[in-house]
This record gives sequence, structure tokens and C-alpha cells, in this order.
Amino acid sequence: MSRSHHWITPCGGYALRLTAASWQQMDRECGRAEALETGGILVGHYTTDESTAVVAEALPPPKDSTRGRSWFRRGVAGLRGLLAKRWESQVRTYYVGEWHYHPASIVEPSGDDLVQMYGISADPRYRCREPIMLIVGQARDGDERPVRAFVFPQPEGHLEFEQRRGDAGPVSK
Ligand SMILES: [Zn+2]
Repeated sequence: MSRSHHWITPCGGYALRLTAASWQQMDRECGRAEALETGGILVGHYTTDESTAVVAEALPPPKDSTRGRSWFRRGVAGLRGLLAKRWESQVRTYYVGEWHYHPASIVEPSGDDLVQMYGISADPRYRCREPIMLIVGQARDGDERPVRAFVFPQPEGHLEFEQRRGDAGPVSK
């Protein structure tokens, strides 16, 4: 796979890495979703210097999620227990954001997506003031799936990541 899984904002203030495993999880769920949107939460950690968010897992949609051709509402079923387990595990990971699949070859966050992310950024229960949103689309014949990545550092503001060129591919850890 030639895709780079290292991302950075143009200002250099935020960096993002996706593990190969998290990308495969999204790719698989997107394939299952066919013509409907889907999504789930991103679980990972920040590097010890806090410069980079590392997405270790892209979880499938909770069972109480609802979806249509151009909308997705992520449910919450099972997330509390699952996140408690990740927090207590040897390599501590936690909620870092959301991923969505939009069944289109050009992907944009919807107005609802932005509202959801601003809400999460401001909601103390998430303990995630800089949540990430990944939007994955439909591959056109022979192409890679389009993917865009955003960070929501403050209420009402977001920045888009750019893929860093010249990286060797997905990170293993
Ligand atoms: Zn969406």
C-alpha cells in the first residue's frame, strides 16, 4: 500500500498517525456499509511529547447507531465498558475522535458532522479537547479510498491535516 499514514496540519501544530490495523478496520467496515454511511470511535494515545495523536483502533459502529445514505448517528452501546478496558490495559489507550464513511468519491464533513465534533470538543465527559475526525470515502475503480482528516482544537474551529509525502507507509505500532 503506497498511502502515507502520517499527517500534519499546515501550521505544523498537530500531527496524526494511523496504524495499519486501524486503517484495515475502517476499510473493512466501509466495504460492508455499501451505500449507507457508517462510522465509529477512534481509540489511541498521544506520543509522550504530546506532539502526535496515534490512532491505534477504529472501532465498528455501536449496535444502537442509526444511518442513512447521507447521515450517520453513532450510538453509545458498549462504549463505556470498552473504553474502561482500554484505559486499564498495559498500553493505555483512550478516545481520540470519530471516523465516518461517506459513500462518495469526494468526501466533505457534513454540517451535522461539524456540530457533533464541536460538541465533543466542548463536552467534559469525553475528556478530549482536540478530537480528530477521519472521513473515508468510496474508491473509484482501481484508486485508493479517499480519506480526509481534521482536528477540532476549539469549539467552532477546525483544521485539516495534510498527508505527509515520502513516508514509507503505515506505522506498525
Ligand atoms: Zn459524516
